[in-house]
Amino acid sequence: MVLPNYGFFVSDDSAVSPAAYVGRFAPSPTGRLHMGSLIAAVASYAQAQAHQGRWLLRMEDIDPPRERPGAAKAIEEDLKRFGFQADQPALYQSDRTKAYRQALDRLLASGQVFRCGCSRRHLGHGRTYPNTCSGGLPSGRAPRSWRVRVSGQVVFSDALQGVCRQNLVTDAGAFILWRADGQPAYQLAVVVDDDYQGITEIVRGQDLLDSTPRQIFLQRLLGYTTPVYLHIPIAINHQGNKLSKQTGADPIDPQKPMPALRRAWRFLGQLDPPQDALSSVESFWHWASLHWSAKRIPAASEIPLNRV
Ligand code: GLU
Repeated sequence: MVLPNYGFFVSDDSAVSPAAYVGRFAPSPTGRLHMGSLIAAVASYAQAQAHQGRWLLRMEDIDPPRERPGAAKAIEEDLKRFGFQADQPALYQSDRTKAYRQALDRLLASGQVFRCGCSRRHLGHGRTYPNTCSGGLPSGRAPRSWRVRVSGQVVFSDALQGVCRQNLVTDAGAFILWRADGQPAYQLAVVVDDDYQGITEIVRGQDLLDSTPRQIFLQRLLGYTTPVYLHIPIAINHQGNKLSKQTGADPIDPQKPMPALRRAWRFLGQLDPPQDALSSVESFWHWASLHWSAKRIPAASEIPLNRV
């Protein structure tokens, strides 16, 4: 992916008009909320509040091997303690299999989708899928997943990172829509749900920038509108790894929400809140929605958390 540097700050206001704005936060319940996910939640929420828009919550719970029992409910509770108020009950992707199946059927009818019998062992370490099954399953190979054929280049303008382009054939390759374990793939589910929930702007971590061209490609195949994208820098630890449960992300204390909220706010390059905005999460969010500016977010791909 080519990311020309268009300066350090966002150049213009978001293209979405205030009344119509719908944002979202879409965590995968692989553990409790940590600093990295809190930063994405704060950015998406502040941006929706500043646009007098709606903010929706979606649990991306379609990857059972990576999920922790109880994590989804714990995330919902923690978000409330940090003062986030979703405008609708959370949408759980595990309840949406039928909608993903219908989208897959539509893509099947277009002839873009094929069955693949390759396992990880067959594919080795190549960057893109070698099209082994795109002309039909090789004899003796059982069907496992569904993949979509790709073509061309996707170019889009990220509201923070500038113009991004990806050649789908050489940089992504035919990708999985339905997994060998019977679960819909993230790329399909996210596109179906962003459309279903009427999301107008997606504010999320820069680690997902690479997936965006595939999502735009699917939106076009399915006749969906492409939302505005704003990819914020991700927080890394002192070893340079993305903060996650696996890399030992600092736990955050939802009983004492203010220090972590302030830290996330500072990470996002925002003005220091005055003392009276720090007395409760309600007063913080009241002040924050009036003073948030996406133009202040550093247009970096990653920032070490210990610098903030
Ligand atoms: N569920 C994904 C994650 O937690 C985020 C997906 C998205 O924002 O599109 O990393």
